[in-house]
Amino acid sequence: MAYKHIVVPSDGEKITCLQGEGCIPDNPIIAFIEGDGIGYDIMTASKRIWDAAVEKAYGGKRKIAWMEIYAGEKAASIYDGDYMPEETFDALREFMVGIKGPLTTPVGGGFRSLNVTLRQVLDLYACVRPVKWYPGVPSPMRHPELVDIVIFRENTEDVYAGIEYEAGTPENEKLARFLREELGAKFFEGSGLGIKPISAFATKRLMRATIRYALERGRKSISIMHKGNIQKYTEGAFRQWCYEVATEEFPEQTITEDELWEKYDGKLPEGKILVKDRIADITFQHMLLRPAEFDIIIAPNLNGDYLSDALAAQVGGVGIAPGANIGDDVMLFEATHGTAPKYTNLDKVNPGSLLFSGVMMLEFMGWWDAARLVKEAYIRTLEQKTVTYDFARQMEGAKTVKTSEFATAIIRNMDDLVAGIQADPKG
Ligand code: NAP
Repeated sequence: MAYKHIVVPSDGEKITCLQGEGCIPDNPIIAFIEGDGIGYDIMTASKRIWDAAVEKAYGGKRKIAWMEIYAGEKAASIYDGDYMPEETFDALREFMVGIKGPLTTPVGGGFRSLNVTLRQVLDLYACVRPVKWYPGVPSPMRHPELVDIVIFRENTEDVYAGIEYEAGTPENEKLARFLREELGAKFFEGSGLGIKPISAFATKRLMRATIRYALERGRKSISIMHKGNIQKYTEGAFRQWCYEVATEEFPEQTITEDELWEKYDGKLPEGKILVKDRIADITFQHMLLRPAEFDIIIAPNLNGDYLSDALAAQVGGVGIAPGANIGDDVMLFEATHGTAPKYTNLDKVNPGSLLFSGVMMLEFMGWWDAARLVKEAYIRTLEQKTVTYDFARQMEGAKTVKTSEFATAIIRNMDDLVAGIQADPKG
């Protein structure tokens, strides 16, 4: 496809599939959106780290061919005020894998969130958030090491569907009349009204993706988080449809909690994934009191949104939590925080969230050694107490460095790690 402003790198190859063997060439073209505000600083630092890790892990045999695509303020300056050019969607559809920095949602003027637009237009139906503590990261928990949880949040429906009617409008009054007169519903006069659609289609495809992920990564359990005791036909149905996918489509690989106790005396048989469900409110309590009981959590959109941020806080907060929005044909990895505009171009903030989103991307690509190298070098850098301002203010005796210096320190530690592996006669 011909693009107006996007330059397709001539030294890269297109990714042609997202599942199965042989999808990822050694020099894949990966699309990136720099992002607004702190986007430039964190993307520049993170790309240096990912590239160094790939180079060092594979001795130059593999290399990402980066292709810049545009959204947000940078897009507006290139595409005559268009914050979300059509060819950005086209490029993501064609090249299938992308990574993005944060985007400003322009206030006023009827703009929709660019992030929500990307998810909806590309049908990125699963928001995947691995939440794990790394040694040295400041945390409010006494045992943050017990947190190693992946959240699969539904990304396309629930109260985010945008079906809302303001109190006092003719649409609201029409709907209120219908609900009262035709369906016998009772609610206060002058209520704002919103609709919460949750479908079997969207729930089931999310559960399939969740189970596939659990199988690929050797995860042990999936907890369905829901508020089905109150919202029976939305959240309760979500729970039911998740179980149906497990029992009808993956009967050999999954087991329910009832079966676990009836047939196996509570001991998970080798190779099986336990599927259980938990009410949303108690899940928040358990997340603080006994996080080790959770492995993967699948949740509808709103619950998943709340839980993702709450859980991220347990392991160090927004500076580090990574994420990905995944569909059947496109994967878009992303920093989960915003553009932190007051720090724009100060070379100051923590690149961790974007950096670890890139680690997720490398893992998805099967480039496990490069992913591991980033993680280990990051941990070593934290052990040396070399950190950006946000972590420094929570640590005793830390050395505060700039974003770019933090990247340099991580890359230097990679060299030591690789040299250590080479110097070790046992390999
Ligand atoms: P924010 O940009 O996430 O920043 C809030 C605060 O979080 C910052 O002031 C800073 O805290 C801390 N922070 C964020 N990123 C950090 C990093 N990389 N390293 C260290 N600390 C970091 O949230 P916001 O101010 O509410 O939103 C600003 C803009 O971002 C809005 O236009 C919003 O629409 C957009 N946004 C975009 C996304 C996205 O693209 N996915 C997500 C959320 C918001 P301190 O002040 O304590 O240093």
